[in-house]
Amino acid sequence: MLSLAGVTVRFGDRKAPRTALDAVDLEVAEHEIVCVLGPSGSGKSTLLRVVAGLQELSGGRVLLDGADQAGVPVHRRGVGLMFQDHQLFPQRDVGGNVAFGLRMRGVSRDEQARRVEELLDLVGLPGAGRRAVSALSGGEQQRVALARALAPRPRLLMLDEPLGQLDRSLRERLVAELRGLFGRLGTTVLAVTHDQGEAFALADRVVVMRDGRVAQSGTPLEVWQRPASAFVARFLGFENVVPATVAGSVADTPWGRVPVPAGSSQGAVTLLVRPGGVRVSAGSGEPGALRCVVAARTFRGSRVGVSLRAGEALLEAECEVGGAPREGEVVGVTFAEDEVVVLPPSR
Ligand code: ADP
Ligand code: MG
Repeated sequence: MLSLAGVTVRFGDRKAPRTALDAVDLEVAEHEIVCVLGPSGSGKSTLLRVVAGLQELSGGRVLLDGADQAGVPVHRRGVGLMFQDHQLFPQRDVGGNVAFGLRMRGVSRDEQARRVEELLDLVGLPGAGRRAVSALSGGEQQRVALARALAPRPRLLMLDEPLGQLDRSLRERLVAELRGLFGRLGTTVLAVTHDQGEAFALADRVVVMRDGRVAQSGTPLEVWQRPASAFVARFLGFENVVPATVAGSVADTPWGRVPVPAGSSQGAVTLLVRPGGVRVSAGSGEPGALRCVVAARTFRGSRVGVSLRAGEALLEAECEVGGAPREGEVVGVTFAEDEVVVLPPSR
C-alpha cells in the first residue's frame, strides 16, 4: 500500500545540510502494522510528515497504492496523522474534536453524530461526546485523538509517539487495546516511537532507524533474537555487547573465551550475550568459569539484574530473586552458547 523508495530529506542550506532521511526504502502492506523505532533525532517524525505530504522531499519517491504522491496535497492523500502532542482543540468538546475531519469533508450533521458515537464506543469512551477535552485525563485525551484520526477512515493511519505522554501501566494496557482495535478494523498503520516496548507490543514488523537510515527491519521476534548490529542491540537494551575475535567455535572476548554457535562468522565481530546466557554460580564455580565480583543488583519484579565485574570488564546477568548473589560476593560465570549472538564488527 505504502512504498518509499530512496526517500531523502535535507534541512539547512547547501553549505551546511543536515540529512534527516538518507535514502530510506520502506514498504507497508495493506492491514500491516509497521512500527519505526529509533532514538530521538533519527528522523521518525520527518518520515511521517513526508508520507502525509507535510514535508518536501530532497530525493526519492512516495507511492500510495502504486501512485506517486509528488504534488498530491495533504488532504487528497487519504492518510491520517496523529501527532506526538495530540493537539486537541481545547475550545471544542470531545464530539467536536472527533467530528473535525468529517466536517472538513462536508459530511452531513446526522452522519457526523452517528460516526462520532460509533468511534467513541470503539475507543472505550461511550457517550463522552459532550465532555470538555480539558476535563479529560491524558489517557482519555489520547483516545479522543485516536478517534479523531480514525473518523475519516484513512487508508493509512500514522501515529507519532502515540503513547509517549502516558505512564507505563496505562501505556501497556492501551498498546494491547490498540493492536486489537486495528486488527478488528483492518487498519493499515505506520507508527513511530523511541520506546522499544511500545514498538514490540504494537507491531507486526519493526523498522529500526539510526541517523535517518534503516538499521534493521523484521518481525519483533527476528529483531529481538538477531539484532543486525551493535547499535540495534544496545538500543534494544542489551548491555553485554563487546568486540570479539572468533576462531572456530570460540570467541576471544574481554570476558575470556566464550562459546559461539556453530557456523558463526570468523575473525573480528561484535558479540552479544543475552542476560539469560550468563550462568552464575556461587563461589568460583566449575573449573574454567570466569571469576567475577558482584558490583550491584537491580530489582526487576520477579528477577534481579546482577552487574558483575571481571577485572576491567563488566557483565550483566539476571537471577531469580531467591538465588541472586549479594553485592561484593565472588561468583563463577559460564556462558550458554545458544544465548550468544555474533554480530558484524562495529563501525
Ligand atoms: P525524531 O522524530 O526521530 O526525533 P525528527 O524527524 O524530528 O526526528 O528529526 C530528524 C532530524 O532532522 C533532527 O536532526 C532534527 O533536528 C532535524 N529536523 C527536523 N525537522 C527540521 C526542520 N523543520 N528544520 C531543520 N531541521 C529539522
Ligand atoms: Mg519525533
